[in-house]
Amino acid sequence: MDTATPTAPGITGHVQFDPPQFAHLGMRPELVVNPVEDERIWVELEPNVWFRPLFFDMNNGSHGEVLRVKRGGILSRHKHSTPVHGFVIKGEWRYLEHSWVARAGGYVMEPPGEIHTLTVDNDDEMQTVFIIQGPTLYLDEADRVVLIEDNFHLIETAAKHYEKVGLGADFVKQFIR
Ligand code: FE
Repeated sequence: MDTATPTAPGITGHVQFDPPQFAHLGMRPELVVNPVEDERIWVELEPNVWFRPLFFDMNNGSHGEVLRVKRGGILSRHKHSTPVHGFVIKGEWRYLEHSWVARAGGYVMEPPGEIHTLTVDNDDEMQTVFIIQGPTLYLDEADRVVLIEDNFHLIETAAKHYEKVGLGADFVKQFIR
């Protein structure tokens, strides 16, 4: 890796890092994702549902993202085999399967076994930081797995999007550790 706070291809100053202190022992660089206004960072997953990458950890299969959903958007029914941590930074959202509403400033921990479908009911978009510790398994009505959304799938999806919007497929690589 280069040293001295390099910036990412595509959007100046979006991602930074200093060199690792123990690079000779295999330590990976830190990862600093700065606020960004550029709409092109948002990768569409479903209508009115986007994510932007924060990190992909290729050693343990976890990743961090900001999920953005606008009114009527549905993040399809899915299951988690590993824990998920969510911190709401904007708006509010709910799961069709649950009685509660997650609001800005609130935190949600989803234990393994959770099956749910996320939606937004009002006009304000929601944004939530999710730290997802393994693949997300999307299910059909009969609970059959129809999509395994692991880091490899997400990185490919993001690379295709960034290529299409002119940032280049390699844009996603800056989030990989
Ligand atoms: Fe979930």
